[in-house]
Amino acid sequence: MIWNKKYECMPRQELETLQLKRLKEVTQRVYQSVPFYKQKFKERGVYPDDINSLKDLDKLPFTTKSELREGYPFGLFASPLKEIVEFHTSSGTTGKPVVDGYTHKDIITWSEVTARCLSCAGATAKDIIHNAYGYGLFTGGLGIHYGARLIGAKTIPISGGQTTRQVMMMQDFKSTILTCTPSYALHIAEVAKEMGIDLRKLPLRVGVLGAEPWSENMRKEIESRLGITALDIYGLTEIIGPGVAQECPEKNGLHIFEDHFLPEIINPETGEILGEGEEGELVLTTLTREGTTLIRYRTGDISRINYQPCRCGRTLARIEKIKGRIDDMLIIRGVNIFPSQIEDVLMRIEEAEPHYQLILERKKGLDELTVELETSAAIFSDEVRKVEELEKKIAQEIEETLGLRVGVRLVEPKTIQRSMGKAKRLIDKRKLK
Ligand code: ADP
Ligand code: ZN
Repeated sequence: MIWNKKYECMPRQELETLQLKRLKEVTQRVYQSVPFYKQKFKERGVYPDDINSLKDLDKLPFTTKSELREGYPFGLFASPLKEIVEFHTSSGTTGKPVVDGYTHKDIITWSEVTARCLSCAGATAKDIIHNAYGYGLFTGGLGIHYGARLIGAKTIPISGGQTTRQVMMMQDFKSTILTCTPSYALHIAEVAKEMGIDLRKLPLRVGVLGAEPWSENMRKEIESRLGITALDIYGLTEIIGPGVAQECPEKNGLHIFEDHFLPEIINPETGEILGEGEEGELVLTTLTREGTTLIRYRTGDISRINYQPCRCGRTLARIEKIKGRIDDMLIIRGVNIFPSQIEDVLMRIEEAEPHYQLILERKKGLDELTVELETSAAIFSDEVRKVEELEKKIAQEIEETLGLRVGVRLVEPKTIQRSMGKAKRLIDKRKLK
């Protein structure tokens, strides 16, 4: 078990002293070794020596995803290429990939933070970790792998796909922890059921699930179908991969490993730093990374931060479950909405299966959203009227909860594509016309 109490339970003042020391080091580092940052600092008239308190953070410039793309592939590395031992890239969900280069020390840091995540979820050396995150350039597979190895747990590096085989191995190897995306966890459960295997009866007890937004009600759905405690893990390639933050069994926010990653929440429109509890964009500064060292990186992810101590004993701040990416926010007739909010309502509906997608279209110049949701086959064998009534009920539920009028279309089981990794929730048909 890797619960690094020295850092995870550090008194805040001590933690802040450490953060400041590290912040000074990284500003020096990027100023000296990354021409992009030297230029940016100069343009802003700020120099590493200007950083004398954590409050000085707002003097530093932000770094954006498009800047990282401009530096493709190695332009922003803060270490010489000869020191890089591994590359990863973002999955390119929203465009050209971003490259992360890791030094040997970075891989050690990465192992430490993902080991902390797994430990936080209750993993020990005795656990058999069924790691169904994709192995390869995607950070999920190897990131978890390194952490599991540091704990001394037994890893099954199964990666995503071949779901029947996944279920068979889970049963035969008696896996105790499942690591994958929440949508893939549900797919595994679905395939197991078809194979006549009840996952709830297997030794599997915890899921460390992340890499995509998932709602509270989706958690309940996963927990009951798999018979596990499902905990959220957050990370992004640009910063390190998985291992930035992890939910503890209190299920009330994800502890962010602040000794390695310095968080801020900003107003995404103005860049202004927001206070504790206010919703905005998460910004991260890497405090210990070498290969890719980022200053005030704008993650594009929406959350809030909570500095109150947690009952688990960790003093590390918690970020609220990520609502979604700013890019994924829909504005429908003036209502701002994230797919995860719609999901949360859908998963309350008894007849709903946990598979849905959102279709965005433009009709007569207005954006219209249709929710496609799977339901049991039995409902379709009833009268058509029953289906229509249920569709109406769901639309009403969404309107009452979110103030948003949407169309609802119930579809037969297995109509919506299953994903091995990140689920694609939104189909934007507006650009096709
Ligand atoms: P890409 O941006 O191409 O998907 P990554 O694989 O690095 O590249 O994914 C990181 C992103 O995935 C995060 O910025 C965030 O939007 C999303 N993400 C990761 N973990 C979570 C999580 N636990 N909850 C919600 N979103 C998450
Ligand atoms: Zn906690």
